Amino acid sequence: MRFDVLTLFPEIIDSYCNVSIMKRAKEGNVFELNTINPRDYTLDKHKKVDDTPYGGGAGMVLMPQPYVDAYDDVEKLENSITVMLTPQGEQLSENMVLNLTKYNQIIMLCGHYEGFDERIRDIIRPKEISIGDFVLTGGELPSLCLIDAVSRKLEGTLGKIESAEEDSFSNGLLEYPHYTRPRDFRGYKVPEVLLNGNHKDINEFRLSQQIERTKIRRPDLYKKWKNNH
Ligand code: SAM
Repeated sequence: MRFDVLTLFPEIIDSYCNVSIMKRAKEGNVFELNTINPRDYTLDKHKKVDDTPYGGGAGMVLMPQPYVDAYDDVEKLENSITVMLTPQGEQLSENMVLNLTKYNQIIMLCGHYEGFDERIRDIIRPKEISIGDFVLTGGELPSLCLIDAVSRKLEGTLGKIESAEEDSFSNGLLEYPHYTRPRDFRGYKVPEVLLNGNHKDINEFRLSQQIERTKIRRPDLYKKWKNNH
């Protein structure tokens, strides 16, 4: 998998991907990461990437030329998808993440300020993805959400200790609660069933906790799960 991120702030992407599990995966060649700064493609001496909106209004709009030229310069691999991070896109989900793992390359466009000049969309025709119904200052965190979620599905990113098999959403339910040492913390005890070593009991307990949690916290997911069982 190769991630190419068009961003005015590549240091945000690099700093996140240079620690912990992401760093190990990148150094283990599970994925390759490139950042491309549209500011390097500006044609004027002030390296201007944004301007005031035609028709008036607040904020600065990202100009098409630096973004489209930067995009044109990205090497496109076979089986590549281009994604624009925008609050107006389809909401990112576990299913979408799984589908994205099928590509060899994900090219990401991160906006900033008031957002993209519409012609960037018209020319590049990206898949538009949102990470939720709220507005951030830039597309860097959303693109990192995507990189993180996709790469942890790729073989080699997670070791045994970080297994994703039982994560929330993987079987349509939220995950069961976890406990580690000590057995008693400020009077809050680890459920007895987890201490008895009986795996059948433990699995039953965990599944019942998953069902209960999902029913209360995410009735929408519970309803879907129930219809399939
Ligand atoms: N004016 C735009 C609108 O209302 O749709 C929002 C622009 S936002 C301040 C700046 C950039 O942050 C966007 O271009 C996008 O790249 C990113 N962004 C903000 N919220 C986002 C979200 N929920 N999901 C994905 N990207 C987001």
